[in-house]
Amino acid sequence: MLTIAFDNSYARDLEGLYLPWQGAVVPDPAMVWLNEGLAEELGLDPEALRSPEGVAMLAGSAMPEGAAPLAMAYAGHQFGGFSPQLGDGRALLVGEVLNRQGQRRDIHLKGSGKTPFSRGGDGKAGLGPVLREVLIGEAMHALGIPTTRALAATTTGETVWREKPQIGSVLARVADSHLRVGTFQFFYARQETARLRQLADYTIARHYPELVGTDDRYLAFYHAVIARQMALIAQWVGVGFVHGVMNTDNCAISGETIDYGPCAFIDAHDPASVFSSIDTQGRYAFGNQPVLARWNLARLGETLMTLIAPEDPQQALPEVQSALEAAEIRYDTLRRKKFGAKLGVSEVDDALIDGFLNMLTAQSADFTLAFRKLGQAARGDDAPLIAHLNDDPRLFAWLETWRARLDAADKMDAVNPIYIPRNHRVEEALSAAQTGDLAPFLRLLSAVSDPFTKREGFEDLEGPAPAGWGDYVTYCGT
Ligand code: AMP
Ligand code: MG
Repeated sequence: MLTIAFDNSYARDLEGLYLPWQGAVVPDPAMVWLNEGLAEELGLDPEALRSPEGVAMLAGSAMPEGAAPLAMAYAGHQFGGFSPQLGDGRALLVGEVLNRQGQRRDIHLKGSGKTPFSRGGDGKAGLGPVLREVLIGEAMHALGIPTTRALAATTTGETVWREKPQIGSVLARVADSHLRVGTFQFFYARQETARLRQLADYTIARHYPELVGTDDRYLAFYHAVIARQMALIAQWVGVGFVHGVMNTDNCAISGETIDYGPCAFIDAHDPASVFSSIDTQGRYAFGNQPVLARWNLARLGETLMTLIAPEDPQQALPEVQSALEAAEIRYDTLRRKKFGAKLGVSEVDDALIDGFLNMLTAQSADFTLAFRKLGQAARGDDAPLIAHLNDDPRLFAWLETWRARLDAADKMDAVNPIYIPRNHRVEEALSAAQTGDLAPFLRLLSAVSDPFTKREGFEDLEGPAPAGWGDYVTYCGT
């Protein structure tokens, strides 16, 4: 029996921000993959989730007792252009549960059918993009990066039409919440200030409870969201992650990475790396992410000015601006800390970090492998790194400076992953999955779920795509 103790605070408290809605009934819901560990953390019985009732819920086809499925409304800037109404066009919030630690978690579906927010889309998802979100989300989680996580992938028994026919699929994912910058923009654009305040108070209670009831809580909340976002971006940059579609509707107030669409990990280090087919201007290029995160946070700031200074929102402008200036400094500090750990030095400065990264860029050297080879250098063997950097003449002087500061050599391998979801391996795993062979997907998932520990027999998952594999292009179309 599937019994879930739902506690649906969003449905209860945020009138006007959703439409109650049901998923599409699908012909043949079937489980492809279940995250048993996560199910246990949520206090859900994996056996019950595997039962016909459980699979029907995870595929969006039938809801259990206590669920209050709804499509969330939100607005958002997409590539800089504002849409006052986006919303869950292919997704549903099934409900919220408290996990074993008592923390509130959303259970959310992607691909569960059309909603009033579908804007001409079919509301569906294909198996490839669903498994991609599983792989990348689990990798991010294992890398210690805040992220939504996949609970299950199911198939629906339908065909979904994209460039090529796809196996119809639904992703069930779990998040601290799905509140986004775009959620705040939704009420702000409608000048519904009372509801905006209600949303802010709800969000503060849910994610920043230490601020409940304090004076100046909206400004403090803004600082707190900025802090989490800057920490998140420093983590992304530290593992070579490119989100690809950092629109304000994909910027989570909880500080989690959300919406794995056209994302990718870099092989060769290059701040200009762009993978998404629609990011023709390079707005969301690897090296632009800190700037674009601040741009998104400026949009959040605009909405909060009406709460910080209700009489005259413009009065709040200097405070919002100085919060954004502090964000830049905060990011630089967090980046230094992240790269300091990766380099094994506690006394770190930008010259040391950029000296190394610039050599990687100049040599088109693989980012992830470079830090493992630096770990070997820390243990006395420079040869692999020298070869990796094609004997870059700057390396010898750099190594000397670095070595003089190296004080955490033994910790480097615990922060520099061996296994990331390399683009060519992800594509290989997804292609096999489309033909019914899940083995490469499961093998890659197992490697990226334990990314710091070298394993026999997984050598093929360590390196970048072979030369000639070509430029990698990603698509939004889940
Ligand atoms: P995303 O790229 O996931 O951030 O989605 C941006 C917006 O497009 C959201 O409002 C989605 O719900 C909507 N959307 C994306 N794909 C579809 C689809 N196949 N059907 C309906 N809406 C979609
Ligand atoms: Mg989105």
